[in-house]
Amino acid sequence: ITSAEQDVLEEIEEKDVDFLRLQFTDILGTVKNVSVPARQAEKAFTDGIYFDGSSIEGFVRIQESDMRLVPDPDTFAVLPWRNSEESASARMICDVYNTSTGEPFEGDPRYVLKQALERAEDLGYTVNAAPEPEFFLFEEDEEGRATTETNDAGGYFDLAPKDLASDVRRDIIYGLEDMGFEIEASHHEVAEGQHEINFEYDDALTTADNVGTFRTVVRAIAAEHDLHATFMPKPIPKINGSGMHTHLSLFTEDGENAFHDGDDEFDLSEEAHAFTAGILEHAPAITAISNPTVNSYKRLVPGYEAPVYIAWSDRNRSALIRKPAARIPAASRIEARFPDPSCNAYLAFAALIHAGLDGIEKGLECPDPVRENIYDFDEAKREEYGIETLPTNLGEAVDALEEDEVIYNALGDHIGQKFVQAKSQEFQDYLVDVSQWELDRYLETF
Ligand code: GLN
Ligand code: MG
Ligand code: MG
Ligand code: MG
Repeated sequence: ITSAEQDVLEEIEEKDVDFLRLQFTDILGTVKNVSVPARQAEKAFTDGIYFDGSSIEGFVRIQESDMRLVPDPDTFAVLPWRNSEESASARMICDVYNTSTGEPFEGDPRYVLKQALERAEDLGYTVNAAPEPEFFLFEEDEEGRATTETNDAGGYFDLAPKDLASDVRRDIIYGLEDMGFEIEASHHEVAEGQHEINFEYDDALTTADNVGTFRTVVRAIAAEHDLHATFMPKPIPKINGSGMHTHLSLFTEDGENAFHDGDDEFDLSEEAHAFTAGILEHAPAITAISNPTVNSYKRLVPGYEAPVYIAWSDRNRSALIRKPAARIPAASRIEARFPDPSCNAYLAFAALIHAGLDGIEKGLECPDPVRENIYDFDEAKREEYGIETLPTNLGEAVDALEEDEVIYNALGDHIGQKFVQAKSQEFQDYLVDVSQWELDRYLETF
């Protein structure tokens, strides 16, 4: 037993933790958990906890359904909404192992990200990531079901009393802080009922763990206020959708920011430029993973601060990748603006990292930044600038994924196959559905 594990055992005693939730995510990014009595913690660390994986999305076939969960002691946190004087519950995020081989299970998204980080490490880098998840708070109806009614009429950075949700947001922030988050800022987003809470950057694995926790905490605390929090990318047409901008940088082994170069016009190093080029090159395939729902593509349309065109910029926010202003060298980074919060963060980060590293390994040339508003360009001008367009729907994105070896291999065959299968099916289901829009438009006309 390691000292980190010993610390967890002591904390369980001190805080009267009765139950442990052992968490992992399925391929679609849904957090799953197995609850065990806290006295099994030591056994969980040493032997792991066995569970039947056959009913988890895309995990295993029935014949090979035994999986083993081994908790990561660094992810121990007492759940703030299940904490009382007498008893508490805590969670730990787990790595999943195959019981027959004893090897890490290749269907575990956390393992996929770990492999991307290993590739970075082989090149001498660690990866830092910070996401900006946006979400809507909606009213519930009498039966407690989610609606798309917002409970406020605030706008970007509005203050109370217009921003009635600021109480809720404050409680969410307290909840996140109790779970160990360092909150940097929170604000009312552009759309009515839309919010953003930023938390401190961390290594990419911790950040991906945090995204899952973030979604869980936001939803749980919103529910305490009888509100439904949704990370659906575009719940309401014709207003801004919800993105999850992802800031990325590489650091060297001695803690220097490998993305910073003070002599460069953009303060970005050669590595940062090549990394950017790699993401631009693989963007269509990455989109299948970072924007994995039918609804994701309703957000990626012109006019709502979401990217549509494959270009980068040090200024404007219509680009796919932006170079944010950095006050100190350690903060030089790039911001990928296309991911949305319906993605599985482990897989999306893995795809972005592999794409960027591919750019570095191949020494890909980064195009010039585009400083104008690309939404205003017509096709001729886009052609002149050599600007391509993102996939316009989930079907096109999945096709791009199947054709892109670098990104498909980032997922590994197990997840790659299941992901393509699940997403193709999702797109087919959508294609054969008849929507309210069609009924409104055609039912009485024809
Ligand atoms: N909501 C916008 C998006 O869909 C982002 C708005 C912003 O953060 N400036 O990406
Ligand atoms: Mg922001
Ligand atoms: Mg925002
Ligand atoms: Mg941003």
